[in-house]
Amino acid sequence: MNQMYVSTRDANKKVSSKQAILEGISNDGGLYVWPELDSVKIDLNKVCKQSYQENAYMILKELLPDYSEEELKECIHDAYTNSFSVPEITPVKKVDNIYVLELFHGPTSAFKDVALTLLPQLMSKALKTTNQKALILTATSGDTGKAALCGFQDVENIGIAVFYPHQKVSQIQYRQMATQKGKNTKVYAVKGNFDDAQSQVKKLFLDEQMNEQAKAHNILLTSANSINIGRLVPQIVYYFESYKYLVNQGLIQIGDKVSFSVPTGNFGDVLAGFYGYLMGLPVERFYVASNANHVLTDFLSTGTYSRNRDFIQTISPSMDILISSNLERLLYYMSGKDTAFVKKCMDDLKEKGEYTIPREMLDKIQDLFGCGYVNDYETKEVIKDVYEQTKEVLDPHTAIGYSVAQNSDEDMIVSLATASPYKFSVDVLSALGQSCENEFEAMKQLSKICSDPIPQGLKELESLPILHKDIIEIEEMKDVVLKAMEECFND
Ligand SMILES: *Cc1c(COP(=O)(O)O)cnc(C)c1O
Repeated sequence: MNQMYVSTRDANKKVSSKQAILEGISNDGGLYVWPELDSVKIDLNKVCKQSYQENAYMILKELLPDYSEEELKECIHDAYTNSFSVPEITPVKKVDNIYVLELFHGPTSAFKDVALTLLPQLMSKALKTTNQKALILTATSGDTGKAALCGFQDVENIGIAVFYPHQKVSQIQYRQMATQKGKNTKVYAVKGNFDDAQSQVKKLFLDEQMNEQAKAHNILLTSANSINIGRLVPQIVYYFESYKYLVNQGLIQIGDKVSFSVPTGNFGDVLAGFYGYLMGLPVERFYVASNANHVLTDFLSTGTYSRNRDFIQTISPSMDILISSNLERLLYYMSGKDTAFVKKCMDDLKEKGEYTIPREMLDKIQDLFGCGYVNDYETKEVIKDVYEQTKEVLDPHTAIGYSVAQNSDEDMIVSLATASPYKFSVDVLSALGQSCENEFEAMKQLSKICSDPIPQGLKELESLPILHKDIIEIEEMKDVVLKAMEECFND
């Protein structure tokens, strides 16, 4: 069997899984994919008897074959011991007739924790193989920054520098980042918007002086964004875990098909489900749930992907996106691994802002993928209705997935819950008919409504000391990164 990853845009660009994790993205602009994915078969009987950690090992070893058993087990242990507040890691809860898969019990109360606790461990092991250190550069609009900081905190041989737009993140997001501990973490407020910070990070990766200094220090400059296979692979695990739950509760038998509804932005989460399907998970349909930025609903209905539209800011900000990068991987598999086709689509997207796939391919995609979108008004209605009927409080992202699940008419559907309602307390409270502008007060009010405690990681923010106070100009980003290369690795 081929033991290499290839680029979605060039089948001749081959790298090992460790290399793919270190590089993140291929230098031809493509994403790394595993061509033999559909010949890997996961034993469902085993899945249903094993722990989360054991299932994670069984899945990871198939897709990361150049890691030793010892390495993978150590990574999984370090990622999932004491970092999640529940032993199941990703528990399932029945809400009305829908099974809600809760992915938000990690350190930052969002689903990105599931992967961002594991990726740093995988990266650290890969760096040992190449005998390098790494500096992670991340621009964030708010959420990913904290999850990344938390995951990389004090990981051996890795430093991380996070840039967020000054005064353009929420109070909670600000405190989450500014109070971050760890001797290898750097956080900067940048005067500008998210796009400014993001473009500057992209420039820094190509900057000559930057690369020379990195090389001199044996430091790899890389990112931790959601196209990295080290973030994708850990997400496959919880799809199998929810299946295990349904079987062990006697709700289905092994082999029965289930559907999933997934609140979607960059298409990483739902793609991980599709990977699970290719590896033998019995799936009826995946529902791709979007907010008012419904570029994916349009694509899945018409076959045309067009980013030529306005960007809309919503109360589900982690799904506010016009380019869903990981969709490129679905095109690869659905086109029969046609890298020339994928490259053409991506070139069209770049040059014309859109591409259209052939009818037969759309049919094939529609056989497996449903879709739907929900605007802010409807999102709040869903939060209110679900609370009134079940006393469960959903966050806005989760409510979107839940709403699409409700409209699907599937008998057995799992809806993914991607954030804790406490992370979006102000909007959730307003959906429930209460108003409160202070985010910390809102959390306390919400805690009374939910009659459960505020997650520790959010609660403690109000009293933790501010450790990162730097406010910098865009032009200063390069200097602080050059300095970080010196400071992050001093013991
Ligand atoms: C990132 C995120 C999403 C979207 O996930 P993708 O993998 O980008 O599709 C949905 N909900 C929340 C809360 C998120 O943080």
